[in-house]
Amino acid sequence: MLAPPVTAFTVVQRSGAARAGALHTAHGTIHTPAFMPVGTHAAIRALLPGEVRAAGAEVLLCNAYHLALRPGVELIERAGGLHAFMGWNGPILTDSGGYQLVSLGRVTRVDDEAADFVSPFDGTSLRVTPELAMDIQVRLGADIVMCLDHPVAWGARQELVRAATERTHRWAQRCRDAMPAGDRLLFGIAQGGFDASLRTESARAVAAMGFDGLAVGGLSVGEPHDVMHAMLEASLSQFPEERPRYFMGLGTDAEILAAVSAGVDLFDCVVPTRLARHATAVTDEGRISLRKAGYREDLRPLEAGCDCVACASFSRAYLRHLFGTGDILAHRLVTVHNLTHMSRLMAGVRSAIVAGAFPQLQMSVQSGRPASAAG
Ligand SMILES: [Zn+2]
Repeated sequence: MLAPPVTAFTVVQRSGAARAGALHTAHGTIHTPAFMPVGTHAAIRALLPGEVRAAGAEVLLCNAYHLALRPGVELIERAGGLHAFMGWNGPILTDSGGYQLVSLGRVTRVDDEAADFVSPFDGTSLRVTPELAMDIQVRLGADIVMCLDHPVAWGARQELVRAATERTHRWAQRCRDAMPAGDRLLFGIAQGGFDASLRTESARAVAAMGFDGLAVGGLSVGEPHDVMHAMLEASLSQFPEERPRYFMGLGTDAEILAAVSAGVDLFDCVVPTRLARHATAVTDEGRISLRKAGYREDLRPLEAGCDCVACASFSRAYLRHLFGTGDILAHRLVTVHNLTHMSRLMAGVRSAIVAGAFPQLQMSVQSGRPASAAG
């Protein structure tokens, strides 16, 4: 196990439980609270790394499990690691694949030794032990490595939830023991399903293992919002103040602000980039679905005041036209806008925390007024 660099995460300012901070990695500093765009297959679809950076992203999430299946770890290693392979020189967090145990439904078997995944590409089986999950992420060269965990679906039976949570703890310990020394960070993941006492127990168990950062997993999978928030609070109550906290898979403006107010530092979600490819822009005033006929002659930019190239140079009517003609430029422009929107939201959150104005920002986003008004 690497000795955690004690200065890896610094909290710059607090506002209630919300914190603005800086997470230092081998490939640069992440200013928190931060949103991580998802490049599952080692790319933010249709964008150059420089365009992703210009949209304000400081860190990307890639999926170690998907990359191990295709194109394979050996090839990425020969290319000089994931940063060189994909041309991104900023921090990269790799997910271990635990979430695929729930989301893809293609796991044939999970036991204490490993999870057997079935490839969505060719149907072949990959047996992932906690040790293999660490080996893959280390060889990819990730800056932030995630433990292998066992999340459960909303509505799972309580015996299954407890068994999966206890397995998550045993796997976390094995991940920690298997991690060689190096200048990467290892994050533990707390589970516990939708039972507050089991959430608390899991967070306490994982926090006690001394990880560089701590994640809340298995939430935002279909449960009601009040349940999600209660589970989040139960988890965070056991996480040490001095470590970064990551809510896995949360991506709407209001949800992110609610989680920041509870003390979360890192977020990721496929939604902003996926919506873009489905002709939907995220803005301070809600989503804009460019397929709707009402935008046919709308010559305004997607979002007033946005300095992204899509808003600076093009209208809603033009973007709608590009989707209508099936031009990939439409995907590129709306993806750039949506990532820029998320970066601006997070920058507003950080400056509001530092300025002592975070409660007002949160109220403005919940009431649907422009987030920038208070930021
Ligand atoms: Zn824009």
